[in-house]
Amino acid sequence: MSLEKIVAVNVRKVVAPFSVPPKTATGTLTDAAMVLIDLETESGIVGRSYLFAFSPLFLTPLAATVESLGSLIIGDALAPLSLEKKLRSRLKLIDTPGLIGLALAGIDMAAWDAHAKTYDLPLAQLLGSDVTEVQAYNSCGLWIDDTATLADEAEALLASNDFQALKLRIGREDARADLAAIRQVVNRIGDNVHLMVDYNQSQTVSSAMERMRVLDNEGLYWIEEPIRHADYKGSAQIARAMATPLQTGENLCGDFELQCAIDAGAANLYMPDVQRIGGVSGWLRAAALCNANGFSMSSHLFPEVSVHLLAATPTSHWLEYVNWADPLLEKPLEVLNGMAQIPSRPGIGIEWNEEAVARYQV
Ligand SMILES: [Mg+2]
Repeated sequence: MSLEKIVAVNVRKVVAPFSVPPKTATGTLTDAAMVLIDLETESGIVGRSYLFAFSPLFLTPLAATVESLGSLIIGDALAPLSLEKKLRSRLKLIDTPGLIGLALAGIDMAAWDAHAKTYDLPLAQLLGSDVTEVQAYNSCGLWIDDTATLADEAEALLASNDFQALKLRIGREDARADLAAIRQVVNRIGDNVHLMVDYNQSQTVSSAMERMRVLDNEGLYWIEEPIRHADYKGSAQIARAMATPLQTGENLCGDFELQCAIDAGAANLYMPDVQRIGGVSGWLRAAALCNANGFSMSSHLFPEVSVHLLAATPTSHWLEYVNWADPLLEKPLEVLNGMAQIPSRPGIGIEWNEEAVARYQV
């Protein structure tokens, strides 16, 4: 069978509303600024993916970077690993952190989507998995907010799809306010629900060590990114001092950075982000590293593609469920009894709601 040829990589910029705007200890997002990618092949197959630009300010440069990289693969065979290898070799001198890495991952995801569609298989099945659902935690709320409303919010988040796990953002100026927030939520949801907490890199090594002495006895499922993500040595120091598992990984750019974090003992758990780790191709390499080193692996954002990837991950742990792309999707990801359902349609399962895209396009 000869491979399809790529004939176009089209890019659109959208700014969609959040149902609940994310508010962390280190920053607030007002709108979901996203780049939508449509990679077309000669027979009319369209591979789709999206990227988060984090702010409308970076939509134009991110979209332009995707377009530039896309222009390099027009006429190439639809072979995701080979395309990725070619693009990475072309980018050797400028390197791939930042927007270039995100753009590369976006093209990679769209190429894998088209590739799976060529074989008429959901991505998870193309990758060799027969898993149909993946455990998910609801990450759509519990931001740094008024503590008084958190317990009600937690209850509503659990009830929405019978979730059994939630994530609360912490890192308030006063550590006692974090403790109060955690206890409000735990008192309401009980011990059977897993509660993850995320500092979003807000602490120093010293303040994290101090806060950990208090939080370590609260029965938390994991404590995420207490300090600056790239400080593997500091993170290792904190991980060694605490009994609660330390989770990190959403800011790792590629499998080489993951290897460095593992070598440093930076965490007990890893949760790569598909747009930072290098798309589907990068994820597969990261999954091999987590497997070889014995680390459970969860996902960060991008639940639509991550659900397929976790199905094919040997040490699959938790899917982070967010609904940020839902306003733009024809069929948003479904969660039943706390389990994210892998769509049975070919590819990733992303189809744009064109009416909504037209409404939010900038
Ligand atoms: Mg996080």
